[in-house]
Amino acid sequence: MSDKLTSWNERRYYPISQYFKSRFGEKVGKISVSVAETCPNRQSSKMEACIFCDEWGSAAYPRERELSLQEQIASNRKHVKRRLRAKKFLVYFQAYTNTLGRISALQERFATALSEPDVEGVVVGTRPDCLPERIYPLFRDTAEQSYLMVELGVQSFYDEQLRFLRRGHDVESAVNAINMLHQRTQADIGIHLIFGLPGETDGQLIETARRINELPIDNVKLHNLHVLEGTPLADLYRRGEFEAVELEEYARKVVLFLRHLSPRVAVQRLAAVANRWDELVAPQWTREKMQPLLYIEKKMEIEGCFQGDSCSDG
Ligand code: SF4
Repeated sequence: MSDKLTSWNERRYYPISQYFKSRFGEKVGKISVSVAETCPNRQSSKMEACIFCDEWGSAAYPRERELSLQEQIASNRKHVKRRLRAKKFLVYFQAYTNTLGRISALQERFATALSEPDVEGVVVGTRPDCLPERIYPLFRDTAEQSYLMVELGVQSFYDEQLRFLRRGHDVESAVNAINMLHQRTQADIGIHLIFGLPGETDGQLIETARRINELPIDNVKLHNLHVLEGTPLADLYRRGEFEAVELEEYARKVVLFLRHLSPRVAVQRLAAVANRWDELVAPQWTREKMQPLLYIEKKMEIEGCFQGDSCSDG
């Protein structure tokens, strides 16, 4: 077990920072940019926005969107450099659905990002049902020539939970997307998951870890379902029809999941971070950036457990 602590930089789970360090030979920071303008749910008059999503696509900022891609990279690079003391960077196309629209536009954005100094690769956020056939050559070439990570908003491996979240895609589309990306590109595959959904069971969390272990998924990003102003979830919350999970219970869920998650899968994030504090309705602990992380890490230390210690390849 002490070997794990050493190889995971004194963490009890495999942090993505450690993966980047071994892949790039040094610390790498992610520079977030906002260029996509919409997503299938928001674009179609027949669809609804996801229950938790505010008008900025969960990540974009109005002031950033007025800047060009180069300006966003230059401005955000300064913050990432100061915070992480990183000298190499990945440009993260984060908000909305980046694979919607013309592939040539995405290709140009990738080229712009990759021509910036010290940028080693790109990370692109999208939905599992938004990977058209024509995207694969671009992904294949980008992953061959530099580094590419595709972050898929899988959110849950249960269709009833996806319906509650109003995602507009099902589990099958997520599994197909993961397998296609793996077969046809060398991109790293990251998935986003949401815990703290109504009716979620421990058995589901364990089964979710098992499914990830069997799929070609390289890393996971975990979020607690939190309530933002101006979302359908805020209405449910105010009507008393949704209760946000407390930190203690969320930490219990995360630790249970991690113990069943293969140690080969890196972890990008352990809990949601509320970037726009003024819009956060609940839970209040999501305001604190470091507290949930420290709480979960402390819980693992007290319990003496590690990522993967309850899974067959742990
Ligand atoms: S979470 Fe993503 S897919 Fe869902 S409404 Fe927001 S931007 Fe669209």
